[in-house]
Amino acid sequence: MTALIAGGGVAGLALALALGRRGLVSTLFERAARLDEVGAGVQLSPNAGRALGALGLDDQLDAVSTRPEAVVIRDALSGRVLKRLTLGAQAERRWGAPYRVIHRADLQATLFRALRAVGSCEIRLASELRGVRASEDGVQIEVADASGEAAFAGDWLAGCDGLRSVARGAIGLATEVGAAGLKAWRATVAAEAAPAAFDPRTVGVWLGPGAHLVVYPVRRGREANIVLIGDHKAEAPLALAGRWTPSARAFAEPEAGWTPWPLRDRTPDARMQQGRIALLGDAAHAALPSLAQGAGFAIEDATVLARLVAERGPVAALPAYEAARRPRCSRMQAGARTQIRIDHLSGPAAAARNAALALAPEAALIRGLDWIYGWRDAQ
Ligand SMILES: Cc1cc2nc3c(=O)[nH]c(=O)nc-3n(C[C@H](O)[C@H](O)[C@H](O)COP(=O)(O)OP(=O)(O)OC[C@H]3O[C@@H](n4cnc5c(N)ncnc54)[C@H](O)[C@@H]3O)c2cc1C
Repeated sequence: MTALIAGGGVAGLALALALGRRGLVSTLFERAARLDEVGAGVQLSPNAGRALGALGLDDQLDAVSTRPEAVVIRDALSGRVLKRLTLGAQAERRWGAPYRVIHRADLQATLFRALRAVGSCEIRLASELRGVRASEDGVQIEVADASGEAAFAGDWLAGCDGLRSVARGAIGLATEVGAAGLKAWRATVAAEAAPAAFDPRTVGVWLGPGAHLVVYPVRRGREANIVLIGDHKAEAPLALAGRWTPSARAFAEPEAGWTPWPLRDRTPDARMQQGRIALLGDAAHAALPSLAQGAGFAIEDATVLARLVAERGPVAALPAYEAARRPRCSRMQAGARTQIRIDHLSGPAAAARNAALALAPEAALIRGLDWIYGWRDAQ
């Protein structure tokens, strides 16, 4: 049973590794000539932590990530702390796996190294999926690579090819993806050069009118990862944070260059698979980053799909995969839209949100995260 995997992002690498750990071979086609993602951080909550632990990656991840002690949520206008949600050992006890923050390049490199060590996957870089033909017996794909166009055959295809997935088109889903009217400005700066409010032990969140800021350590605290999300028309981060309290506004002025990132998401689709083609990660359930779950859910997808394919073979596995994943992924996509509306409230609505957040018992807010962080694969 050979799996063809289109895309070598988090979803594709995690799937190839999860299949390999179960003795299943794959060929992975990645459009880029190198596998180094643009620099930015990623939060890996315990649901992702558990899946990565099951892939045998705990030690390697601990060597390059931080386990934050808490998420600290502040009002960006006043700087007032609205709520502190304890993570660290307490989170690990509750959800059975660690909460980590990591540089995306370190996550990808960890997955890649483990995959190379297993030796179950042929990785073809500079290879772009162009076309798909599926029959009852298997899947044929056309790939553009250095030699021109080449054809490959396999038993099934995993579309891990991100937002504008070609594999989506092969199962009749839209390949274009709508703009959300929002832009993320991302930067990483050396910890010594970060604004005074950077705390390498926590994930800091500042909620402002029409925009919010998230700051956390990457590279084991040597760098601060800064993400500012707001109206896509803003020409610079400072335009989003102009009225903020100085300690928060300081994050909008780092010396390091910003990478602007237009945000896109989808309303949940009616399916995640058809015949011998399955979709994972952003190809399946592109969402706004407000719940910080896109990579985490891609890792969950990979865990579930690899187990089902190993147990049942691809033809029976794919509908079971969709049944297991679609309700949860749809909830995450919808939840991310709701969360960003709440995060970006202004005026009296923001004051009401702040008051509710300050009054809410921490235990109740933590309970509200159980459905995301408490996930475990059925086995
Ligand atoms: C600002 C921001 C912050 C975020 N923060 C978090 C966070 O804290 N936690 C979290 O879990 N998630 C976060 N996310 C979401 C997360 O980054 C994505 O959901 C995740 O990276 C998706 O992984 P993927 O492998 O599905 O897609 P991608 O990472 O997009 O990978 C797709 C891969 O497929 C390749 N490809 C594309 N087309 C083809 C083709 N035709 N042929 C071959 N290869 C192809 C691409 O080159 C790429 O390597 C954030 C996103 C943003 C924008």
